Amino acid sequence: MREIPLSVPNLNIETADNLRKCAETGWVSTGGDFIPMFEEKVAAYVGVSDAVACQSGTAGLHVALRLLGVGAGDEVIAPTLTFIAAVNPIRYLGAEPVFMDCDDSLCLDPVKLERFCREECHLEDGNLINNDTDRIVKAVVPVHVFGNLADMEAIADTAARYGLKVLEDATEAMGSFFAQGRYAGRHAGTVGDLGVFSFNANKIITTGGGGMIVAGESPSAESYTRQARYLTTTARDDEFFFVHDAVGYNYRMLNIQAALGVSQIDELEDFVAIKRNNFAVYEECLRDAPQMRLLPFREGIRANKGCYSLLIEDEIESPHISGADGYSDATQCDVRDARGISMSDPAGNRRDRLMKSMIAEGIQCRPVWKLIHTQKPYAEARAYDIDKARYYEKHVMNIPCSTSLTEDDVRFVCDSIMKFSRSL
Ligand SMILES: *Cc1c(COP(=O)(O)O)cnc(C)c1O
Repeated sequence: MREIPLSVPNLNIETADNLRKCAETGWVSTGGDFIPMFEEKVAAYVGVSDAVACQSGTAGLHVALRLLGVGAGDEVIAPTLTFIAAVNPIRYLGAEPVFMDCDDSLCLDPVKLERFCREECHLEDGNLINNDTDRIVKAVVPVHVFGNLADMEAIADTAARYGLKVLEDATEAMGSFFAQGRYAGRHAGTVGDLGVFSFNANKIITTGGGGMIVAGESPSAESYTRQARYLTTTARDDEFFFVHDAVGYNYRMLNIQAALGVSQIDELEDFVAIKRNNFAVYEECLRDAPQMRLLPFREGIRANKGCYSLLIEDEIESPHISGADGYSDATQCDVRDARGISMSDPAGNRRDRLMKSMIAEGIQCRPVWKLIHTQKPYAEARAYDIDKARYYEKHVMNIPCSTSLTEDDVRFVCDSIMKFSRSL
C-alpha cells in the first residue's frame, strides 16, 4: 500500500555533516558555534537585529510571556483553536487564559478581541481590568495558525488602545510575511512586542526540537532579547563564579539542534515554494469536490502554506461562509455548531468519515485541534463567545503537506478524497 504521511521532516546530508562536527569537537550542548550562527541566520531572514535560540517553541513562549510582565494572577487572551502549547506557558506563570474565538483564517478573531476589551473590561491606571474577575489582562497571544497570519493590524490597534502586550505565536509561521498594508515586508513574529518560532519536527524547518525568540519594533526590543538570552541560560551574572541574580531556565538551544538549523534555514525558501506549489495542485484537484474546500490563506500575505486544511461541510447544515478568500466579511459569517450532528452519528460527521477512509487507505489525515477551553486543565477557564471555533473544530481536517510530497503524491491524495467524497 502506498503510504503518505501527514508531515515528515526534510533533512539533507549537510545536517549530518554538521552533527559530525559537533561530535568531533565535543560541542554538543548549550555552547558552540552553531547556536550564534543559527541565531544570526534567523535574525537576518526575518529582518530583526537579534534572535535568541531556545530548546522549544514552548520554552520560548514561556520566557517571552515572563518578559512581557505576565505573572501570577494576571490574565492573558489566547485562542481556543490552536495547539495547547500556545496556552500552557500562561499557566506556568500562574496566570489565567481568557479564551477567544477564531475568524475564518482560523486565527484569533480581532473583532471579538476588541469587543471583549470594550464591553467586558475597563481601564484603570493604564491597566485593562476584567470586570468579572477584577484581574489585570496583560497580554494577547495571537497564533499564526498553519502559516496563515492573524489580522495583526486590527489586533495591534486594539492592543495599543487597551494597553495589552502582544506575543505572536509564530511557531507555525516561519517564512510567512505581510505583503501589503501597514506591515508590508514584515515577517510573522516581528510585528508584536515579542514573537516565537518553533523548529519542532512538524514545522516547516526543524532542529528536531527548538525555538527562537525575536523582538518586534518595541522600544524595549533590545532589552527583551538581552533578558531572553539571560533567562534561557540559567540567569548567569558571573559565569565563572556561578553568580545568578534571577531564577532562570535551562532553555538554551543545544549546539546539535542548531547544527540542523543552520542547514535547514538555507532551504526554507525552497520548502515554502514546494508547499505553495503543492497547495496550488490540491486547490486545482479539489475544486469540484462536493461540499468541501481547501481553506485559503489570507490575502495580502506571502504565507508559507505550512499545513493544508480541508473544510468538509455536512449535508444538513451547509453553512454559508462569506468573505472566505479575504476574510473581509469575517464577522458576518453564518457558521453553526455541528456537534449535535457528529454526536448523533456514531460513524461521525462527513469529516470524520472521510478521515477514517483516508487513514484506512494509508493516507495520514488529522482533525484540527480539540478546542483548548474544553480540555481538562482549562475547563474552568473563561471563554468569550466561542462560536466559529466550534464549527471549524468539527469540520476541518489536515491533509498531507510534507515538502517531500511530489505532485503525483498530491494527485493521489486528491483522487482518494474525490473517490470517498462521493460516498460519504
Ligand atoms: C508547535 C507549536 C507550539 C510549540 O512549539 P514546540 O517547539 O513544539 O514547543 C506552540 N504553539 C503552536 C501553535 C504550535 O503549533
